[in-house]
Amino acid sequence: RTVYVNGEYLPETEAKVSIFDRGFLMADGVYEVTSVLDGKLIDFDGHAKRLERSLRELDMAAPITMEELLEVHRELVRLNGIEEGMIYLQITRGAPEDRDFAFPDPAKVPSTIVLFTQNKPGLANSPAAAKGLKVISIEDIRWGRRDIKTVQLLYPSMGKMMAKKAGCDDAWMVEDGFVTEGTSNNAYIVKDGKIITRQLSNDILHGITRAAVLKFAEEAQMVVEERPFTIAEAQAADEAFITSASTFVMPVVEIDGTALGDGTPGPVSKRLREIYLEESRKAAI
Ligand code: PMP
Repeated sequence: RTVYVNGEYLPETEAKVSIFDRGFLMADGVYEVTSVLDGKLIDFDGHAKRLERSLRELDMAAPITMEELLEVHRELVRLNGIEEGMIYLQITRGAPEDRDFAFPDPAKVPSTIVLFTQNKPGLANSPAAAKGLKVISIEDIRWGRRDIKTVQLLYPSMGKMMAKKAGCDDAWMVEDGFVTEGTSNNAYIVKDGKIITRQLSNDILHGITRAAVLKFAEEAQMVVEERPFTIAEAQAADEAFITSASTFVMPVVEIDGTALGDGTPGPVSKRLREIYLEESRKAAI
């Protein structure tokens, strides 16, 4: 696989990052994941804008312009022959000579940028979408700036492991009695045709897929209500689903052992997945 690191395209075995990199030592970094369908980028502009926001919120310099970044994405897709898959991008506050909590002077320490691809043939035709996911609920003990897409992914990883151990696919996190989001996705329920999902705030990541799906839902005259919901409300809902760049719209069929409806993906989730795939393919660049 060819990867990109600090301005160079290299075989993955030759790409190197310093052991003093603050991404490694302190999780002082941000990331993005953009999906690829038909060899084209889905919602690149949305991901680039969120990346700029994450960098700004953390006072981190962008080592590249968004135009150049688009070129790097396209070049990696080409070099690795990706038809369906993902492009991961990570920017950290670089590698100062000494380990120190204080941020280094950006004029002296350039940020580190790394991009790599993951080839996922069949991503859009995933069997999981036909079956639906089982989720458990866990407490949300993450920090208070979940709107910034940082590389602090330890708790989400632990959440996935807790789900796996329980024989499930993912975990929905709960804070003060209300669902925030999934470990790596936004969470939704559907009741009497109405789509309910938590409103944007610092409590959740502002999903790029979420923004697109809510827009498509409204264009299709579906009713969307942005408010928090509880696990009990979700268990009594007609359907549920998640969204993320790597899963698109993915039905959820069971929450903490309670099947939703007849335990198979619901019509609203299925329709939204179809609309999302069709529309985002059309708009891909
Ligand atoms: N919430 C969290 C915590 C995530 O990690 C992700 C995916 N990275 C999302 C939501 C979904 O965001 P997007 O639709 O931009 O992939």
